[in-house]
Amino acid sequence: MKTALITGIFGQDGVHLAELLSERGYRVVGLARPIAETLPDRQARISGKVEIVYGDLRHEDTLGTLLKKYKPQEVYNLAARASSSQLFDQPLLTADVNGLAVVRILEAIRTVDPKIRFCQASSSEMFGNTLESPQKESTRFCPRNPYGVAKLFAHGMVEMYRSYFGLFACSAILFNHESARRGPEFVTRRISQSAALIGAGFANSLQMGSLDATRDWGFAGDYVRAMWQMLQVQVPADYVVATGETHSVREFCEIAFARVGLNYQQFVRIDPRNKYIPDAVPLVGDAAKANSELGWRPTVTFQQLVHLMVDADVYLLAHGGHDTFAGSLR
Ligand code: NAP
Repeated sequence: MKTALITGIFGQDGVHLAELLSERGYRVVGLARPIAETLPDRQARISGKVEIVYGDLRHEDTLGTLLKKYKPQEVYNLAARASSSQLFDQPLLTADVNGLAVVRILEAIRTVDPKIRFCQASSSEMFGNTLESPQKESTRFCPRNPYGVAKLFAHGMVEMYRSYFGLFACSAILFNHESARRGPEFVTRRISQSAALIGAGFANSLQMGSLDATRDWGFAGDYVRAMWQMLQVQVPADYVVATGETHSVREFCEIAFARVGLNYQQFVRIDPRNKYIPDAVPLVGDAAKANSELGWRPTVTFQQLVHLMVDADVYLLAHGGHDTFAGSLR
């Protein structure tokens, strides 16, 4: 039986990856921060499939201790300050958690057991203001916020530990991916929650900044599968993981509200103070390398993704999960 260590276990991807690896017979150890007041809710997301250990990646010895104790063959670093509200705030903390912590992990692997395979969750935010579209592995990085800069530092370190120290270390350059487990602070989940609430008569409008922004949105379950596949091949490499399609926030709203039998135009209010600044070029990924070398391709369409998120929120609302909707009742 293989053992995998996942950091950021209570995040969206942590839960999806833990499920995938458990189904494939892995022993899964998950690292979480000890935030006592939300623990029961967070533990419920994993439902007994994972051994949870508590620690903070900012501490020098966290990973080394875990590697010695659990002896994993695979380590997935999904922990990060990752929400949209954290893109610019507390840049020192972001640099530490999203950047330096990755070097701590790589150093721990190098010194404890250099045969451990490592996957880093890199981000399309590293492309930022790039001028090439679609973006692939060789596209010039041009991050535009501390989150993207810290991810790029980590990305470079992963490449360095692979080429210089010979570790099996790779980065998944992940474009946006969503699911019913997406945090309510993200726009997609706010829309799906609002559609459910308004459809059930608990709210009557959704305030939005702009509907014109476009993103390459995929399904989180497909993206964690790509990360797992990256660690099963002979030669480590970095891969763009994306659908190759862009859709607007407007399309997301349209499909989400239609799912509960409503026309979004009657409920979505635009705040005119938020001016939309378009990206220099469309941010959309070219996952041809992952397709040809890993055989990876997304299995969930954009419409299916929106539907599954709205359906999950309709279900949650009908089964007493009102507390999780607090952020959408604005
Ligand atoms: P998420 O839901 O925000 O999960 C991130 C996790 O990191 C959280 O569980 C958080 O713990 C944990 N974390 C934060 N600081 C930590 C620290 N100092 N020590 C230990 N754990 C810490 O994010 P996600 O959507 O699952 O994304 C997974 C990874 O993919 C992230 O690295 C993200 O940057 C990257 N990524 C995601 C997307 C996307 O669209 N989802 C796109 C590109 C890249 P708490 O629960 O305690 O806050």
